[in-house]
Amino acid sequence: MINTSNKSIQIAGGGIAGLTVALQLKKSNFNPIVYEKETEVGGGRDGDYEGLENWIFSKPVPDFFNDFGINFNRLTTFPINQFVVHSQNSKPFTIYNKHPFFYMVSRGKKSNDLDFQLFQQCKTHGVQFEFGKKAPDSCQIIATGTTRAAAFIQGTNFETMLPNQVHLLLGKRFAPKGYAYLIILNGRGTLATAFKKSNNLKSDSFKNSMNYFNSMGLKIPPGKPFGGRGSFSLPIGPMQPPYKIGEAGGFQDYLFGFGIRMSMMSGQAAGLSIMGKKRESKKIIRALNQKRRLSFLNRIIYEQLSDERMVGFVKKLSEKTNPLSILGDAYSWNFKNILRWINLGQQYEVRPT
Ligand SMILES: Cc1cc2nc3c(=O)[nH]c(=O)nc-3n(C[C@H](O)[C@H](O)[C@H](O)COP(=O)(O)OP(=O)(O)OC[C@H]3O[C@@H](n4cnc5c(N)ncnc54)[C@H](O)[C@@H]3O)c2cc1C
Repeated sequence: MINTSNKSIQIAGGGIAGLTVALQLKKSNFNPIVYEKETEVGGGRDGDYEGLENWIFSKPVPDFFNDFGINFNRLTTFPINQFVVHSQNSKPFTIYNKHPFFYMVSRGKKSNDLDFQLFQQCKTHGVQFEFGKKAPDSCQIIATGTTRAAAFIQGTNFETMLPNQVHLLLGKRFAPKGYAYLIILNGRGTLATAFKKSNNLKSDSFKNSMNYFNSMGLKIPPGKPFGGRGSFSLPIGPMQPPYKIGEAGGFQDYLFGFGIRMSMMSGQAAGLSIMGKKRESKKIIRALNQKRRLSFLNRIIYEQLSDERMVGFVKKLSEKTNPLSILGDAYSWNFKNILRWINLGQQYEVRPT
C-alpha cells in the first residue's frame, strides 16, 4: 500500500511512461519527482522515427494524444497510408489503406519531438526532476525500461536528400523472426532491423538490409547508429505497488514491438490507482493485458511462418480494400483468436511480473 498522505510520489525513469504518469499526477495535485539516470530527457532516442500504430487500439492516434493533454499538432508526425514491402525472392509491392496504418513520430530532444513535448509539459506544470541519479529503492513507480532481452534492434539515423518513402523488408536474411524498415521523411532517414535473439548473437541482418537498399539505388549514407532490445515474454497480473509501468512492466506489443501507446496507458493506470480510482485503473490494465496476450499469440504464429508464407500473407493483405481493419481483427478477441489462444497460448511462457 502506498502512503500518499503527503502526496509525494517518486518515479524511477524519465522515459515516455515515467513522464506520462508524472504529468498526470502533478495535474491531480500530487508532487511527483522523476529520477532519471541520464543527464537529460530524450537523449537516447534523439533523431529516431518511431511508429504509432493505428490498429491495436480503437482510438485514432491524434485523439489518443489529445486525450493525454498532448497537443498532437505540436508533434512532428507523418501519417503513413502506404509503404512498400520487400523480400529476398519476390518483387516489391505496395500496401495501401485509406486511413493511416501508423503515424511516424519524431523522438528526442528537439522542440517538436515526443519526448521533449512531454518533458516540457511536465516542466510547465512543475514536476520535479533529478537528473544524473539512479533512482532510490523507495520509488513507488518503476519506469526504467526493459531489463530482459529476447529481441534486438539495430539501426542508423541519417540525413538524406532522398524523397519521402517507407519500406518494410521481410525475411530471415534481413530480420530473423522480425522485420527491417527504411523510413525517409523530410530529409531524415532511419534504417533498422528488429530481429529475434538466436544462439548466434552476431547478426548480419543490418548489413544485409543496408546492402539490399543500396543495391536498389537507395543510398544509405553514414549516420548515427543506435541499438535497443525488447522482451517477448508475457508478464501478466494485477498492477500493484511498486507500480511497474511501460517496458519495465512488459507493456509492449510483442509482435512488432510497438510500446509507446502502451507505455502511456500503463502510466495512466498507475496514476489512477494512486489517486484512488482503482476501478478505472483496472479497466485500463485489463484492456492492455488483453492486447498483450493477443500480440503474444500473433508473435507465436508469426515465428512459425516461413519467409514465403510471411510475404504471401502481407501480399494478400495488400489486395484487400481495408488492410487496417484486418490488422485490427488480429488484436481483437474474436472467436478465431480465442481458439488460437486455447491451442497455442497455454504452451508458452506466461508468468506473473
Ligand atoms: C530502437 C527502438 C525502436 C522502437 N520503435 C518503436 C516504434 O516504432 N513504435 C513504438 O510504439 N515503440 C517502439 N519502440 C518501443 C518504445 O520506444 C518503448 O516501448 C517506450 O519508449 C518505452 O518507454 P519506457 O518509458 O517504458 O522506457 P524507456 O524509454 O526505456 O525509458 C526508461 C528511462 O529510465 C531511465 N532509467 C533506467 N534505469 C534507471 C534507474 N535505475 N534510475 C533512473 N533512471 C533510470 C532510462 O535512462 C530511461 O530514460 C522502440 C524501441 C526501441 C529500443
